[in-house]
This record gives sequence, structure tokens and C-alpha cells, in this order.
Amino acid sequence: MMTLMYDELSMKGFSDAVKEDPIVFLPVGATEEHGIHLPLGSDTIQAREICNLVAQRVNGIVLPPISYGVSTSLRDFPGTISISYDALHHFVRDILKELVRNEIRKIVIISGHGSQVHMAALRSACEEISEMSEIRVILLCDYEIAYRLRGKQGIPSDDGHGGVIETSRVLAFAPSLVSDDRPKGVDSTPDFFVARHKKGYLTEGIIGDSSRASSSLGIQINQYVVDELVKAIKSVM
Ligand SMILES: [Zn+2]
Repeated sequence: MMTLMYDELSMKGFSDAVKEDPIVFLPVGATEEHGIHLPLGSDTIQAREICNLVAQRVNGIVLPPISYGVSTSLRDFPGTISISYDALHHFVRDILKELVRNEIRKIVIISGHGSQVHMAALRSACEEISEMSEIRVILLCDYEIAYRLRGKQGIPSDDGHGGVIETSRVLAFAPSLVSDDRPKGVDSTPDFFVARHKKGYLTEGIIGDSSRASSSLGIQINQYVVDELVKAIKSVM
């Protein structure tokens, strides 16, 4: 099986592919700070690459990624571009509607960014479209799988945004974009507090010790994410 890139297909190529009842993947990222060492597009890179790898295993077609997400609490940091809940919800809902109109019946949305509001916008779009049609949709942030490895393989249990796991994963996918200056940061946001901006609470803009990252660990984590996703997809599609 091979991965097809949606925007590289011709009209005929698309029509032929649809006859095979393919799974269409939508990578969703964000444009937001990831410390001094990782690119602003880290979440988009991870989502896109994971979609490509999973699609290879399940007869998939990969859509162009959505590179913006809801990153409200990181807006105080340089470079973050956050869109609204409504903008993301409407945009994704419209794409899903168009896929349905094009007779796509199986959709997997993989987000590299996992903030609660961002994921709620995606979930609400998926629920809306599921009400209107017979499509099957899987939605997740791939960190829901990657973070299962916290506390294992030498990864600290409190690792988070821009930390060991994320730095390792980006190193595996795009080593030239990762700086050798590897900061260590903590999140001191008080429990349950809805912080308008995280800057005062998130030292270095990251959570974890990125100096412990390696591309070999990243390859292992990415492989684990791909394997678990393939299992999840095969169980419902
Ligand atoms: Zn990220």
C-alpha cells in the first residue's frame, strides 16, 4: 500500500482512489512557541509526519495540514499565532462536509496540538458531521498516545510541552530545525487556575528537560504512536 497525498491527486486519481473506500487523514497542527530550541511549527510537523506514516499502513490519503490552532494561553510568547475556537470549528466542519460530499466515509484527524479548547473545537466539528452522515471519524491528539510513555524509558513523569518527548520527536522528523540550546522548564500554574496567559508560569515556555532528548528516543516514540494508531484505526474502520 502507498500513501497518496490528497493535493497531488488529479480528479481521476481521486475518483479512482475513492472507489477503494480510503481512509482520509487530516493533520492538524499549531503555530506556537515551543521554547528557544524547537520550531513554531513543531505540532504541524509531528501531525503531518505521523499521518504520512500511518496512512502508508492503512491505504490512506493525507490532506494538506491545517497549520493553525487554538493556542490562547501561549500568546504572550513571541511567534504564537492563535485562532479562535469558532474559526477552527467552522473550518474543520466545512472540510469534513466537503469530504462527505466527495463520498469519503472514513476520516482520521490527528492533531499535534492538544490544548483542551483546540481539541473541543475539533471534537465539536466531528460530532456535528457525524450527526449528518454515516461517516466514521477518529479524532485524537497524538500526545494522548505519546504521553503514555511518561515514566517509562527514562522519560520523567512530568514531561510536557517542548520537553523530552516533544524535542525527541521533532529531532527524529526534522533534526535541522532543532537547536542545540536545550532548556529546562516547569509549569507552575496553580491547580485548576484558568490562566489568561502562561508566560508568568511557564519558565522557558516549555515543560521538561529538553537536554535529555535524542533522535533515537524520538524514533521509538513515533513508532509507538504509529503502531497504536494503526491498531485503533483497524478496530473501527
Ligand atoms: Zn507541541
